[in-house]
Amino acid sequence: MPQQSVSYGKCFLCNETVAKNVMTRHLKKCLPAHDPPQAKRKERLFQIRAEGRYAPEYWLYLEMPAGATLPELDNFLRDIWLECCGHLSAFEIGGVSYELDAEEVDSMWADLFGPSARTVEMEGVRLEDVLQVGQTFHYEYDFGSTTHLTLKVVGEREGPRPKGGVRVLARNYAPDYRCVVCGEPAKWVYTYEGEAYCTSHAKQHEDWEEAFLPLVNSPRVGECAYTGPSRKSLVFEETLPAEREQG
Ligand SMILES: [Zn+2]
Ligand SMILES: [Zn+2]
Ligand SMILES: [Zn+2]
Repeated sequence: MPQQSVSYGKCFLCNETVAKNVMTRHLKKCLPAHDPPQAKRKERLFQIRAEGRYAPEYWLYLEMPAGATLPELDNFLRDIWLECCGHLSAFEIGGVSYELDAEEVDSMWADLFGPSARTVEMEGVRLEDVLQVGQTFHYEYDFGSTTHLTLKVVGEREGPRPKGGVRVLARNYAPDYRCVVCGEPAKWVYTYEGEAYCTSHAKQHEDWEEAFLPLVNSPRVGECAYTGPSRKSLVFEETLPAEREQG
C-alpha cells in the first residue's frame, strides 16, 4: 500500500493539523497552554511517541506519569492499537526484555531480541526506573504475527495527572487508502495480499468470508483478527482535512 511522504496528524489539545516531524515541538508549547488553570497536584509526566517500527505512518503521542508501570503502558498500547486475542507482549529497553508472565513464555521466544537480551518480568517496573528523556525503546505484541513498535520519551514536565492515567495528545490521520479495483476510499484489507478494497468490491471477492479485515488506523491493521480499539473513545479514523492536501 502506498504512503504519503509527509505524515500529518491531529493535536487533540488544539485540534490543529501538524506534521509528524514538528509535533514534538508543537506539543511542548501546546501542552502547558491547555492545562487546567489551577491544577493543584502536579507530578512528573513523560511524553512518549509510539510508532510502527516498520509502518511509521502510524504514530501517536501520549502523556503518562513517569511513575506509571510498564504493564500500564502495555495495556494502553493494546487498548488503542493492538489487542485482538490476548497475545503476549514485551518491551525491549536498553538490552533488557521486559515480559508479561516471563516464566510462562516458551523458551522458543526467549531469544526474541537476540541471545544477549536478559528477560525480566515487567510487572511493577516503573517507567522512570528504566527510561529517561531522549531514550528510544521497542515493543512487540504477539510473537506469532508480530506488530513491532518503536517508542521514544520525547519530553517530561510537571503537570496534572491525566484522567484514567493516560492522555492521548496527538495521532496520525488515517492513511488515505483506495480500493485496488475502483479507486474509491477503501474500508477493508485483503489479508492474503495486503490490498485495500471498498466495501462493495470486498464483498464481491471470492475470499470475502475468510480473508478480509476492516481497514483501521493502527499499525496492526490486517493482522490476526484485529478490528480496532474495543473502546469507542479510542477510535480515530479521520483523514487529512482537504485544505491541507491542496496546499
Ligand atoms: Zn496543539
Ligand atoms: Zn490475535
Ligand atoms: Zn472498489
